[in-house]
Amino acid sequence: MPGIHQQSVDQIVEECREVEGLGIPGIILFGLPETKDPRGTSSLSAHGVVQRAIEAIRKAKLKLLVITDVCLCEYTDHGHCGVIENGDVANDPTVAILAQQALSHARAGADIVAPSDMMDGRVAAIREMLDEHKFENIAILSYAAKYCSGFYGPFREAAQSTPQFGDRRGYQMDPANAREALKEVRLDLEEGADMVMVKPALPYLDVIYRVREAFDVPVAAYNVSGEYALVKAAAEKGWVDEKRVVLEILTGIQRAGADIMLTYHAKDAARWLKAC
Ligand SMILES: [Zn+2]
Repeated sequence: MPGIHQQSVDQIVEECREVEGLGIPGIILFGLPETKDPRGTSSLSAHGVVQRAIEAIRKAKLKLLVITDVCLCEYTDHGHCGVIENGDVANDPTVAILAQQALSHARAGADIVAPSDMMDGRVAAIREMLDEHKFENIAILSYAAKYCSGFYGPFREAAQSTPQFGDRRGYQMDPANAREALKEVRLDLEEGADMVMVKPALPYLDVIYRVREAFDVPVAAYNVSGEYALVKAAAEKGWVDEKRVVLEILTGIQRAGADIMLTYHAKDAARWLKAC
């Protein structure tokens, strides 16, 4: 996608310096490992790419909040968010690996871990693992309402995490279902999530609003790669005024009730807002 690049560990520090200078309060890291295997084991290594990136950012003494994506799909050779047993994603073995992964991020210096896998019980398992190792102060931002969406396409290509067989309908939510989102959010909060996320953002503004109305916790909205790509492509063709529509979109997401926004437009928006 235009303006979006994979970063090496040394590049990420410079990127983060720029981000901090623009007044953006935090970043989220997704890892692209050198090797993938069926169980995503490279995601647990203290020398993994995400773990080393966190350490480098910490060493640079930046004030940015560092959030890490906790999932297996970038690390598994089959591209699913969990380990496969009998041809299907196996919930409990996956949850055990995710808890280890979250612990390794906390050890490296992450402020917030963000499980995006949608397995059952993973928030509780991560909370227990972190507390057991004296990381009670590490917060959990759960992808509580993650819909099975066509808007993830560009990211999956960039992260080389497109499922090699089947799809993610078994563990992501049906776009037509709004009430299930509230159920998922409630469960994640009961398990110990500190913040909850709705993903994608634009086709689910009503879900953001419902979650905001029903629960008194910070609500995050993920303005995903496909949403960004639509705007970028139309702007390139001269069909829309990019600055105007981006700021309108982000305002809409905020108006729906999001306290935290994850967006590929972040740097552009920060620059535009600074210039206002
Ligand atoms: Zn995943």
